This record gives sequence, structure tokens and C-alpha cells, in this order.
Amino acid sequence: MRILVVEDDAPLAEVLRRGLSEDGYATDVVGKLVDARHAVDVNEYDLVILDRGLPDGDGRDLCASMREAGRHTPVLMLTARDGLGDKVEGLDAGADDYLTKPFDYPELTARIRALLRRPAEAQTPVLTHGELEMDPAARRVSRSSITIPLTAREFSLLEVLLRQPDATHARTDLLERVWDANYDGLSNVVDVHVANLRRKLDLPGMDDPIETVRGVGYRLRPVST
Ligand code: CA
Repeated sequence: MRILVVEDDAPLAEVLRRGLSEDGYATDVVGKLVDARHAVDVNEYDLVILDRGLPDGDGRDLCASMREAGRHTPVLMLTARDGLGDKVEGLDAGADDYLTKPFDYPELTARIRALLRRPAEAQTPVLTHGELEMDPAARRVSRSSITIPLTAREFSLLEVLLRQPDATHARTDLLERVWDANYDGLSNVVDVHVANLRRKLDLPGMDDPIETVRGVGYRLRPVST
């Protein structure tokens, strides 16, 4: 799950970036409307957290133009103002929810989970592939009905694979979807996490559910019928 944070208050933006990353979301942060427009044009986000008061304009305008362009990415609008008129304006512009500053981080994450759940519940409540099962809303993974505890990052990695079970995912693609655009840590971070995921999903008498595609990346092992 990839989230764009549009927030010009640097300390708040840093709190959000750190918290969301720890929760397993790939998080990009920008502080200006112009950079936000560019980011939504070139990247696919699962959610946008959008401050209204930005140095080069009103976040509401970005939301409105995303909707005009047919982008249905959920938008959670942040507003320093508590007036009813501001909320109505935000929702009129196509925001899915709003939060008034100051807010508690747990409230923000609860709203985020609710927004990310909506499309998942409408389309596929539970993702399955062979004996693998993932309930994204409950954050639960099992294999042959045995519950497998995963870290937030491992969960996100497996979710990307399960949502496109027939695709081969390049390492760079996985890095962008599960970490973020500017990740500059270990270059083998994807391989390390895939190895951990494999170890946890390894059950006696069962195949490795993840295949390595040499020189490219990873994909799920096709399910034999
Ligand atoms: Ca602001």
C-alpha cells in the first residue's frame, strides 16, 4: 500500500512519514501543490493525505483536479480549520474523509484503514492463491488454515503479489510499492524480505509459494488445477 502525504508543516510531515513507514505503508512526502500534482501523475497511490493550506495553493484544488481526471484514489483531507463550511468544501471537492488539526496519530491510522478497506471489501474481501489466504481488512494471513504472523512490511509485500497473482514483479517495482520512491537503504532489502516471507510460509510438505524469476524479480507459483 502506497500513500502520498501532502503536508508543508515539516515536523508533522516527518511524524507522518515515520509512523506510516513503521506501519508498513510505502510513504512519499511532498510539501507543495506543484510537487503533489507531479507525484499523482507519475505514481499510483492507494491513498492521498492532503493538507488544505499549502504554500502554493489550496489542497482542495488538487483533490478536485484528481476527480476531474477520473482518479478515484481515496483522499483524506487535513484542515486546520474547524468550520463546517471548510468540511463541506473539502467533501464537495471529492475528498473521502477529513480530519481537523490537531489530531491524534491513532485516529489518523483508524481513518486510513477505513478508507483503504472500502475498495478491498467491495472487490475481494479475502485474497486467496492455492492454500494461501489473506484478509486485508483483518490483516491476517494463513496457509492451509494455519495463521502465519507477518511483519507489516512482509504483509504488504505478500499483498502486492496476491493482488496480481499472475504478474512477475520486478524488484524495483516491489521496492516502490512496499517501501517508497526515495528508499535509499540496503539494495537487497526486497530479497531479504522475500527470504523471510518464504521462511514463514514454509510448511511441511508444501511448495515454496514464491518463485524467483532470474534477473527480474518474483511472482507467485502458479496454482495447479
Ligand atoms: Ca499547511
